[in-house]
Amino acid sequence: MWGMEKLCRYKDIVDGGGNLKSNDTLRDQGTTLDWWTYLQIKSRYQKDKDEYGLELGNNGLDKILMGPGKKALAKLYNYLLDEDRAEDTIRNQLRAWESNIGHSLNFNEWEEAWNKNYKLTRAATYKENHYKMLHRWHLAPARLAKMFPNVHPNCWKCGHGQGTFFHMWWTCPEAKRYWSKIRRWLKDIIKEEIDLNPEIFLLGMVKKGHGKEKVHLLIHITTAARLAYAQYWKKKDLPPDDLIISKILECTEISKLTHEINDDENSDYDTVWGRWYEWINDRIKEGVKGVEIN
Ligand SMILES: [Zn+2]
Repeated sequence: MWGMEKLCRYKDIVDGGGNLKSNDTLRDQGTTLDWWTYLQIKSRYQKDKDEYGLELGNNGLDKILMGPGKKALAKLYNYLLDEDRAEDTIRNQLRAWESNIGHSLNFNEWEEAWNKNYKLTRAATYKENHYKMLHRWHLAPARLAKMFPNVHPNCWKCGHGQGTFFHMWWTCPEAKRYWSKIRRWLKDIIKEEIDLNPEIFLLGMVKKGHGKEKVHLLIHITTAARLAYAQYWKKKDLPPDDLIISKILECTEISKLTHEINDDENSDYDTVWGRWYEWINDRIKEGVKGVEIN
């Protein structure tokens, strides 16, 4: 990524109406950005748009970046992460996560892990889910209550306490019940203990030490579980097992397609997903309703 020598300027990445082009559109025009970089640019774009209006010509930043030197994107990245720009939306969101979790998060390690799994994690639904999680996109009742006085701030699931974003996703007893089940499934599938922590289950920050094939399964299955949970965001009930399982099956299809397209010799689809198919076949034998498998 950092070896990319072509430099992006706003006039290249916004459309005629001044709106930031989608990452897919940018890719079609030959500018390939991983989701993390795109997210950073998007955050910067929003801030510039809100505060200054957009500068479509050569501005100060352009001059810095258009100057000599190969590592233009590395410079841009550092510019975006500059401490002086601490008010940037993304930094605030990351800090909110750190505050919830209770310790600092190693985003460099995370980005590294994501780049390694890039082929598997570039599917639109995955990127969208991770983007939404990172940006704390799902509106929780406590926040809605501040926006609309007639909305009750209590949790939609357990009915107690303040229904904050983190309560809804994690500290709620119902959410705990959900993630504990997903953790049990994962333990059955990969035959290893997994820490029940929000880094893994909500942000997909899988630490090293599980092995490549297991990391793939962890990322896929926790993402599918979040997609199912988000679908039941405003409901009192938790997503039923057959919904979670069908989300995971969609993930296996996406994974299969990307493997076929990439003809990737290093990551064998059957090895990666074999454990999952074994597990689901056992469950079908035991009589899980509503699951169709080819
Ligand atoms: Zn609750």
